[in-house]
Amino acid sequence: MTSYLIKGAAILGGEPTDLLLQDGVIAEIGGFEARSARTSTTDLEVIDAAGLIALPGLVDLHTHLREPGREDAETVESGTAAAALGGYTAVHAMANTEPVADTAGVVEQVWRLGREAGHCDVRPVGAVTVGLAGERLAELGAMADSAAQVRVFSDDGKCVSDAVLMRRALEYVKAFDGVIAQHAQEPRLTEGAQMNEGDLSGRLGLTGWPAVAEEAIIARDCLLTAHVGSRLHVCHVSTAGSVEIVRDAKRKGWNVTAEACPHHLLLTDELAATYDPIYKVNPPLRTSADVEALREGLADGTIDVVATDHAPHPHEDKDCEWAAAAFGMLGLETALSIVQETMVDSGLLDWAGVAERMSSAPARIGRVHDHGGPLEAGQPANVVLYDPSVRRVVEASESASLSRNTPYAGMELPGQVVATFLRGRATVLDGKLA
Ligand SMILES: [Zn+2]
Repeated sequence: MTSYLIKGAAILGGEPTDLLLQDGVIAEIGGFEARSARTSTTDLEVIDAAGLIALPGLVDLHTHLREPGREDAETVESGTAAAALGGYTAVHAMANTEPVADTAGVVEQVWRLGREAGHCDVRPVGAVTVGLAGERLAELGAMADSAAQVRVFSDDGKCVSDAVLMRRALEYVKAFDGVIAQHAQEPRLTEGAQMNEGDLSGRLGLTGWPAVAEEAIIARDCLLTAHVGSRLHVCHVSTAGSVEIVRDAKRKGWNVTAEACPHHLLLTDELAATYDPIYKVNPPLRTSADVEALREGLADGTIDVVATDHAPHPHEDKDCEWAAAAFGMLGLETALSIVQETMVDSGLLDWAGVAERMSSAPARIGRVHDHGGPLEAGQPANVVLYDPSVRRVVEASESASLSRNTPYAGMELPGQVVATFLRGRATVLDGKLA
């Protein structure tokens, strides 16, 4: 196995140093001029990392890989290739596949496909309810005990809206240290909803999606979690009110974590005025005041995690009129750049903060051991090298995803993932799949 000597990388944006990746671990950190003799006996590749930042391999809590069932949109192979190119070494694959990942058999299939693809570790998310139907609990324990070792359970795409089912799920996962990741969307308040509810939805004639539909579920679930003493993770927080509810729950010491998505940190509902369904997403793009509150919440730790909600759709599901189009947008290959643009370049977060929110915290919440850093000798060599100084124009056609529904096409974004290492093996080198 090739060893890598990374020369002059700035770990978490600090002073430049060298990292030796050998036998799957970070063997040493420091200056290595004198010890090249020892490593010359092995297959050693030297990487000039001057100007590059080293971060622990990113971990996504919220990825849609679409396999099994929608291999026209994405496969485990193509989605994890996109993940590696975005700097990820582990992703959680959401359960809304066909069939739904609600049994040990399906989660083990997804987990195995991830191992075969080899681009990054795939941690399947198990469905909370059978078939995402919201009627009875899936076999959560069997999925936890399976080879896939599921710890995150979610009906994402749908909300577990029944309070009794949600309570039972929260109680059940305590036995194996699991967490329920809720897609907070009160179904009756969002029937036929197309975009954020406000003046603009009225003017555009699109059915509004009120902030309260998200906030009411988050508030209820925080209370339920506190009541049963379990663990709740809130998916894709999108409103200022939701940030405030999570902040309050944390102040009370409740075991609640939350994620925000790159698109909700950058884009606003004004884009719906284009009627271009590329901007149609669930939950919807919100107002600039919501964007501001999400950034503040992410900066102060109220929002624990940036998660992509990478949601590939084939063109026939997106290139149609707004009302008929599918919800969702790509995210894996652009997430780090958007976090740099919105959080780092704006002075809200340093690179250590980025590593916490895009690697350490998601690994902790998902109980993904061996990911999330720290970048120290003896740790697994899951590392991303990132160049924050370049700027690039996003080209949809260059994506490794099978789908093309990126809202950032033609947009100039900062930064580029140069290399990604999974347990010391390069999955990306020179910005390309290795
Ligand atoms: Zn969702």
